[in-house]
Amino acid sequence: MNKANKQIKKVVIAGGGTAGWMTAAALSKLLGKNLEVILVEADDIPTVGVGEATIPTLHIFHRLLGINEREFMAATNATFKLGIAFESWRDVDQHYLHSFGFLGQGCWAADFQHFWLKGKKLGMVSDIGDYVPEHLAAREGRFAVVEDQARNHAYHLDAGLYANFLQKIARQHGTKRVEGRIENVVLDDKTGFISSLKLANGKVVEGDLFVDCTGFRALLIEQALHTGYDDWSHVLPCDSAIAVQTKTVAKAVPYTRSIAHGAGWQWQIPLQNRTGNGLVFCSKYMSDDKAKKTLLAKIEGELLNEPRVIKYKTGTRRKHWNKNCIAIGLSSGFIEPLESTGIHLFQKAIVRLMLMFPSQGINQSDVDEFNRQSKDEIDNIKDFIILHYHLTERQDTPFWRYCRNMEIPSTLQHRMALFRESGKVFKKEEELFGETSWVQVMMGQGLMPIAYHPIVDLMSDNELQQFLQHIRLATRRKVDSWPDHLDFIKQYCPSKVAN
Ligand code: FAD
Repeated sequence: MNKANKQIKKVVIAGGGTAGWMTAAALSKLLGKNLEVILVEADDIPTVGVGEATIPTLHIFHRLLGINEREFMAATNATFKLGIAFESWRDVDQHYLHSFGFLGQGCWAADFQHFWLKGKKLGMVSDIGDYVPEHLAAREGRFAVVEDQARNHAYHLDAGLYANFLQKIARQHGTKRVEGRIENVVLDDKTGFISSLKLANGKVVEGDLFVDCTGFRALLIEQALHTGYDDWSHVLPCDSAIAVQTKTVAKAVPYTRSIAHGAGWQWQIPLQNRTGNGLVFCSKYMSDDKAKKTLLAKIEGELLNEPRVIKYKTGTRRKHWNKNCIAIGLSSGFIEPLESTGIHLFQKAIVRLMLMFPSQGINQSDVDEFNRQSKDEIDNIKDFIILHYHLTERQDTPFWRYCRNMEIPSTLQHRMALFRESGKVFKKEEELFGETSWVQVMMGQGLMPIAYHPIVDLMSDNELQQFLQHIRLATRRKVDSWPDHLDFIKQYCPSKVAN
């Protein structure tokens, strides 16, 4: 039988970081009755150890796996996240917040920003964030889970503890863990498909389908199958990060801080017991040594580990599914951690794999469709991330001057022109970031439309004022009813992990 038509009964996941254990938990819990799932990981090769800020789509994955929010948060030292504060991105002394949630209320023809824009012209509005509950709550450090109140939130979590939490689920549902360093990826002579992994301890792990979760090493998809990589460093030039954890000294805020510096940006991710810190930078404009000094000078609190430098190249694997190998996690590529989209992309790939699971053998049409969807998804996110770097007024360093002047994709040029000229934003069907995200970031970075939709003029000035005020007051009332973020965590999901 041709290997491509062979039934898939045994899945081997190579790598046990966030991506590996997410994949194992989902496959074994949801498809495990008909599948043997094996995960191979090396105790002496550490995980990358970052990836601690998430976005609200994680709820979908957790719902699928029946994960209880309170248990998960208590097991991973998690806090709530309502958005990202972008400090010094537009210019050194200018800050804004990109929150989750939806902006005000629009009508069939025009989203809320059109009403707000006219209100601004007439001097009757306050900050656009005052019309989004998640935005206001983030600024004021409030949070609550209220049964009949819709809200969009994500989490800050401990990546190591999250992998352990998922490992428990995966193993309860039958995933077998094999320890050992993969030394050789064995290919079938005729088909070029992967037939087994040879480990340094002599074990051989055979399988029908292989999921590459080996991180930046991309042992299977690249080192064995030579799939190729599209390099995006001309539009996303940061290629290094330095990460360190500290004892918390300030109150945990319900948002990630992203603070721009001369050659990149710094993250601050507050957990219940510690803070995750990192500096993302472009090695062309900043040395590792300078980055380390810059980060250490900017953080407070005792260091809990040695700062670690992580090197990467922004871009994507040319095919995320090649032969009988699917890359999930950093092995499939890396956009940049700015909008915390890594874990989201892993979960999308996992769900896509389950939707197209090749039980009866691998069809090229499934492979092509998987790769098409992965490409579309990542291209849309890529544009949104480039926007933050390109749309800046900063001229103070060569890095920011490069970002301002670099050539950007025509799709992004079009979006910016459309917004500038008419205030319009259209979300593509399958796109991750919606209108509210684009509006908050474009305005936050200083792009203010010169026009609004004419339907707004059907309202008298008085009606418009009442409409805007009603939304602002409703937002205010909702957020006023939420307690302090940390007080809420203490009673809802206090950490169960010994510090
Ligand atoms: P890894 O954690 O590197 O795991 C690789 C696994 O493969 C390990 O278990 C290792 O032991 C195993 N392995 C490797 N080689 C072998 C071998 N030869 N034999 C056996 N096993 C092997 N994403 C987000 O969603 N939010 C964020 O805030 C975020 N921040 C990030 C910040 C930075 C600087 C970076 C680089 C990425 C960030 N990401 C973020 C992306 C991503 O979520 C995380 O990096 C994620 O933890 C990566 O997981 P992974 O499982 O792909 O890789």
